[in-house]
Amino acid sequence: MNYLSTRGDRTPRGFSDILLEGLAPDGGLYLPESYPKVDHATLGRWRGLSYADLAFEILSLYITDIPADDLRAMVRKTYTPAIFGTSEITPLKALDRAANAPDGTDVYLQALSNGPTLAFKDMAMQLLGNLFEYELGRRGETLNILGATSGDTGSAAEYAMRGKQGVNVFMLSPNGRMSPFQQAQMFSLQDANIHNIAIDGVFDDCQDIVKAVSNDLEFKRRCRIGTVNSINWARLLAQVVYYFAGYFQATSARVHATPEQVSFAVPSGNFGNICAGHVARMMGLPIRRLVLATNENNVLDEFFRTGTYRVRGSAETHETSSPSMDISKASNFERFVFDLLGRDAARTKQLFKTEVEQHGSFTVSADEFAHIASFGFVSGTSTHADRLATIRDTYRRFGVVIDTHTADGLKVAREHLEPGEPMLVLETALPAKFAETIALAIGVQPDRPAAMRGIEDLPKRFVVMPVDTQAVKTYLSANI
Ligand SMILES: *Cc1c(COP(=O)(O)O)cnc(C)c1O
Repeated sequence: MNYLSTRGDRTPRGFSDILLEGLAPDGGLYLPESYPKVDHATLGRWRGLSYADLAFEILSLYITDIPADDLRAMVRKTYTPAIFGTSEITPLKALDRAANAPDGTDVYLQALSNGPTLAFKDMAMQLLGNLFEYELGRRGETLNILGATSGDTGSAAEYAMRGKQGVNVFMLSPNGRMSPFQQAQMFSLQDANIHNIAIDGVFDDCQDIVKAVSNDLEFKRRCRIGTVNSINWARLLAQVVYYFAGYFQATSARVHATPEQVSFAVPSGNFGNICAGHVARMMGLPIRRLVLATNENNVLDEFFRTGTYRVRGSAETHETSSPSMDISKASNFERFVFDLLGRDAARTKQLFKTEVEQHGSFTVSADEFAHIASFGFVSGTSTHADRLATIRDTYRRFGVVIDTHTADGLKVAREHLEPGEPMLVLETALPAKFAETIALAIGVQPDRPAAMRGIEDLPKRFVVMPVDTQAVKTYLSANI
């Protein structure tokens, strides 16, 4: 399997060529040349597999340049009950059941957040850690990952890369601006290859420093700087697996003559999670709807309702109680638009390079817009008040506490229920991560997994730096 760029570069590249890359050289995003198709016989064969073996079957369609035995060993090492809490890895929890649901529809939560950092990003990042270690070892190279985080991504990357051979992580975060819990998750790591750098500024300052360092191509090459941001294809690919796993669980107890479809509702920010659902659907997984939920930062809901994609400036990007979805542009969105446009790279480039860079927005044609329905996408927005109401309602009716992002997904899911179609809402974080808002909604603090109790009191390992690119470069050079 080779990969191409959404902006037209068709230089043949295999999975391991793009594994350690971010953007393609022409500024586009990598996608496989085609989506492998999965037929009914194959789905039937996969139904009984463990999560790790299912992951192997799916990944091996896209990863043809790593020996099968090595790939199998990596996924078996990654998707274990010890790391993800249950043998199902992403178990379903039923909320409404058709028998007593007024609309006759089953609604489920699919748990994706029982990994080490309590957010769905672990699902992909834990595999990435093993893939990076493997590929760097095979090449005899080392890599220094530089990133900026306001919360979930940084901790997921650090827990995935801690103790790995050949990899160092340098993670910038805004000093004193993360929740005490998020800060403790990262700063309590004592591994020598993990470097927490608290910047005396805001998240945008951290991100600007990362960009400035990456733009110094000579420094980047000499210091072997890499990233693990959400445009990485391997992360997206790892996420495809749980759509299959959710489908198998939701349809296991049913006997239907015709293949049954399910829908997924996905709390979205950078369009990474739901883009994996799009890939699963393109492969032939019977997904009826992909329900995209945004918070008040509704860049994507606006597109799916109107056909206009308009990126926002920082002044227009709201700080919300589902902070991991506070985005001004959706970095993975170009992948879907490329498919929507019939994989026309010239048109994709015109929209994302010329129009977005010059005018900050684009609008697809009426024909192109009409085509969206055939990809299953629908969307909606959820606000702070919706979030609190949904958390409260779910707690009262089912005794289940959900996090703020998952609440956005559930709120919008309920607007798109169809009789007889199971709806799976992806649970993107555990409530313990956003305890303040949960307490506001239901009056009690959410439970914390045992391993996370009292982490705020552990010794912390971090350095503080001013908003100064040179200071970060000097620190990097001295610690690699
Ligand atoms: C990252 C994140 C999201 C958004 O996911 P995307 O892939 O960026 O769309 C939603 N919820 C939580 C808790 C997250 O950490």
